[in-house]
Amino acid sequence: MTMIEAVKGDITKQQVDAIVNAANSALAAGAGVCGAIHDAAGPELEEECMTLGGCPTGEARITKGYGLLARHVIHTVGPVWHGGTQNEPVLLRGCYEHSLKLAAGHKLKSLAFPAISTGIFGYPIDLATQVAVSAVRTFAKQPSSLEVIRFVCFSAKDLADYERELAVQG
Ligand code: ADP
Repeated sequence: MTMIEAVKGDITKQQVDAIVNAANSALAAGAGVCGAIHDAAGPELEEECMTLGGCPTGEARITKGYGLLARHVIHTVGPVWHGGTQNEPVLLRGCYEHSLKLAAGHKLKSLAFPAISTGIFGYPIDLATQVAVSAVRTFAKQPSSLEVIRFVCFSAKDLADYERELAVQG
């Protein structure tokens, strides 16, 4: 059984096996949630990231967590929103699916996601939550190592969007 939950909070403070980073394709430290994760993890995180050769949009890579409470970071590169005409929903779904697969492949029990692409990358939060909840719900129907999948929302508004979508998708 996999429990899916949404909380308001800071992803860098989550006590889970892995947190997901809304990364850029170079896997560089950057701004937003990515900058916060790199700040909290310390410089070794970017050093390991720099050995990976980047990551295409919609895919994911795993590293250690260094100074974080989480043992691992799964870096996934969300699509930049171009009005929905450039395959954004498929790419965003890929972020969730690849991250979940990596987590299960490493036998992780708990995973926390931020709202990928909804900050600097401009993906509308209501559309992004539909994709996020659908991808996670579908994954959670199959048996895996994952016991908890948590959506960590930075604002009360984002949390409300997730809670509504979790209720809608039952
Ligand atoms: P992207 O470039 O993928 O849009 P951002 O970092 O700009 O990534 O934003 C992604 C989401 O992460 C936004 O909803 C933003 O509010 C949220 N966010 C920013 N900092 C944190 C944090 N420390 N914990 C959780 N979510 C965060």
